[in-house]
Amino acid sequence: MNALGELIPATLDRIRHDLVGLKMPRALEALDQIVRRLEHAEISALEAIDILLSEELTLRENSRIKTALRMGRLSTIKTLAGFDFSFQPSLDRDRILTLAQLGFVDRHEVVHLLGPPGTGKSHLAIALGVEAIKAGKSVYFCTLAELLAQLARAEREERLLKRLAFFRRLALLVVDEIGYLPVVPGGGNLFFQLVATRYERGAMVLTSNRSFAEWGDVFGDPVVATALLDRLLHHAIVIQIEGSSYRLRQHAELMPEHVRFKAIINPPIAMPTPRPRGRPPKNRYAHPGT
Ligand code: ADP
Ligand code: MG
Repeated sequence: MNALGELIPATLDRIRHDLVGLKMPRALEALDQIVRRLEHAEISALEAIDILLSEELTLRENSRIKTALRMGRLSTIKTLAGFDFSFQPSLDRDRILTLAQLGFVDRHEVVHLLGPPGTGKSHLAIALGVEAIKAGKSVYFCTLAELLAQLARAEREERLLKRLAFFRRLALLVVDEIGYLPVVPGGGNLFFQLVATRYERGAMVLTSNRSFAEWGDVFGDPVVATALLDRLLHHAIVIQIEGSSYRLRQHAELMPEHVRFKAIINPPIAMPTPRPRGRPPKNRYAHPGT
């Protein structure tokens, strides 16, 4: 055996030892195969280093994403790739893909996804959350009912400010299902405190089956609804989906007609410039409940 042949096992042992010390389990696992490819001259030394490091980095990145998805409560993973835009022709695909570039997160804007049930609002909201997590942003997903329950509990336990501080620090907060359930008494005030604390500090994605004109009913208080919309429409992107339910696509013919065609919800009220004060408009755009 020549000198080099004796050196390599010793060097390899030292590399293994170092990879353990550096807590690089994936690189350690991949080492033998990389060395074999190197010996067979399939890859260069530089490529070997590159592969070793990127194996470890990929593992770390995947586990970071997994943890962030769990912490952010994004349990059912939906992706933009898994969204069939051809099913929802009213939706501007390029607009959604632009949102996925996450400029709105950096600009602390509010994205409203509006539309009847089953049109993909939650799917898109989750998909945007997943994109933001992949980009390293802090994200939290909840329904409005869950959010209000958390805030009410924190208030009862005299730690509301702490909970609000948690929400303030997030780069992106997704609040799903505004309008499906009536807001509990006091809920509007709590939501207002949350919105005020994040105003111009962090981005939000909100989904709703109700038009803005109905928020007075949703929150049981037109004054709170106006104050909420004042902030939530200031730096806002409103996306209206006007289509039929993806959930019911195979059973459309079984649905009663009033359900099939009730779908289209009314256009949002005009964006306020300058920001409106005082009482909200009467339910000009109200429509039979969805
Ligand atoms: P919404 O929140 O508007 O009620 P969801 O986003 O929950 O609707 O969509 C209902 C179900 O249909 C989900 O499983 C979602 O992934 C799926 N879905 C909705 N729209 C589409 C679409 N255009 N392409 C693929 N899946 C869709
Ligand atoms: Mg939904």
